[in-house]
Amino acid sequence: MKREFAVIGLGRFGASVCRELSAEGMDVLAIDVLESKINEFRHIASHAVIADSTDEKAMKELGIRNIDHVIVAIGDDIQASILTTLILKEFGVKKVTVKAQSNHHEKVLLKIGADQVIHPERDMGRKIAHSIISNNFLDH
Ligand code: ATP
Repeated sequence: MKREFAVIGLGRFGASVCRELSAEGMDVLAIDVLESKINEFRHIASHAVIADSTDEKAMKELGIRNIDHVIVAIGDDIQASILTTLILKEFGVKKVTVKAQSNHHEKVLLKIGADQVIHPERDMGRKIAHSIISNNFLDH
């Protein structure tokens, strides 16, 4: 069965997640407040909708509660990221992954029920460091 995802916020990170999930054949609902972003993803994601994820009514109308896994990729607006996560968890979305800007942001997200918190730059930095070390080991 096809799994259903939603990606909220189509900045560099959200856009990349959305493109990859779509390329893998997943059913993806792309959401952003900006029309320009939605126009860009109209032919990439299964559905692309202009909406403010902090608007509870709009999220309800989109049927977000029925989606298996929602990725919140809102960057700078920490308040919007927190409020969106809160709404999704109150709606009963099973899996919510959120991009965090800082350790404080992460702490709040976990407290309000985010299932997974990621720091793309920090996590990728760690991965690269480990891969550099293992490549060095192989070189010797
Ligand atoms: P990246 O580093 O991945 O590019 P960023 O940290 O610069 O991301 P932003 O550009 O701040 O992230 O936000 C990512 C996207 O989230 C933007 O396209 C923005 O329009 C969208 N966004 C911000 N707030 C909301 C909201 N309340 N509802 C829906 N989309 C939102």
